[in-house]
Amino acid sequence: MAPPLVIPFFIPHQGCPHLCVFCNQRLIAKQTSGTHTFDSEAERLSDVIQTYLQFKKNRDQVELAFFGGNFLGLETSRILALLEAVQPWILQGQIHGIRCSTRPDTVTRRVLDLARPFGLETVELGVQSMDDRVLTLAEREHTSEDTRKALALLKENGLKTGVQVMVGLPGDDYFGAVRTAKTLAELKPDFARIYPLLVLEGSRLAQWYRSGQYAPLSLDQAVEQSKKMVTIFKHAGVSVARIGLQATEMMDDAGRMIAGPWHPAFGHLVLSALMFDQACEQIDAILTGQEGIETPEEKKAIVLQVHPRSLSRLQGNRKANLDRLAQTYPGRSFIIERVKTLDINQVDAHFLGMSPK
Ligand code: SF4
Repeated sequence: MAPPLVIPFFIPHQGCPHLCVFCNQRLIAKQTSGTHTFDSEAERLSDVIQTYLQFKKNRDQVELAFFGGNFLGLETSRILALLEAVQPWILQGQIHGIRCSTRPDTVTRRVLDLARPFGLETVELGVQSMDDRVLTLAEREHTSEDTRKALALLKENGLKTGVQVMVGLPGDDYFGAVRTAKTLAELKPDFARIYPLLVLEGSRLAQWYRSGQYAPLSLDQAVEQSKKMVTIFKHAGVSVARIGLQATEMMDDAGRMIAGPWHPAFGHLVLSALMFDQACEQIDAILTGQEGIETPEEKKAIVLQVHPRSLSRLQGNRKANLDRLAQTYPGRSFIIERVKTLDINQVDAHFLGMSPK
């Protein structure tokens, strides 16, 4: 079944008790808020919904998402006003569910009782890290325990749960990212989103960066950390809904992002790096036992098979994976075959002229 169409309605920074060091949600949401002025928020919501419904195509399900702020931390009257504004679309069968992003410390029984009858089905928690020291440095003003409690309460109420995590937070490192992913994987959210931390103009982090107090990850480091997180989540059965920000969410203007591991296809870089590792595992498996034995000519060429949709993932950005394979396995040549019956996450290897296992 096609994934649902998710209509994002941004409420930049609204409901937030303060500003986290890395945040400038007003900037991120700027492009999505457009240039129109509306008499009411309901009118703006209606405009966004109508615009997105044009892109529904063959998708059965449509969800409205309140993103960019702390939805469940809004004033009760405002939560109700926004949820009520969606109801006509739900009653007409054009929207089938509501999701929101929120801080873990705003998830309470009271607010869930309030929102669920209006169709709230999915809650994404801005977790960022499960290390309390890192959360303190980022001035999140919530703890990892808040995340544990929020996930338990959401599950108890039958809601679908997502976790948003970051790599590159001040005071964090590769091992911290691994610990965060492992801790969250044990708590079994339904899905995760992974974002590399970028330094945005107007944020406190920008000041820290300029004063030398904070150094962002390099692109390679961010890819490596994200790759490890994806692996941990996938092994635990937690699907990864997004890696990196959408190109439309950031940064056509270099002045907005002043530093950080930004790449328009960040998710593709991570998935390509994962597929490179998988290819190496497969190649090593067929080479095992051949050390010291002169390889016959016909065994020098290796066939790598992937699903057609994974071809660019295997090749890597600008064919970087093919170059790395040539360096890792000197003297070998590689032939790529597209096989529709393979899973899109799978890569198989065999010697040319020999049957696949
Ligand atoms: S809670 Fe989210 S939206 Fe609010 S300030 Fe922090 S990062 Fe920004």
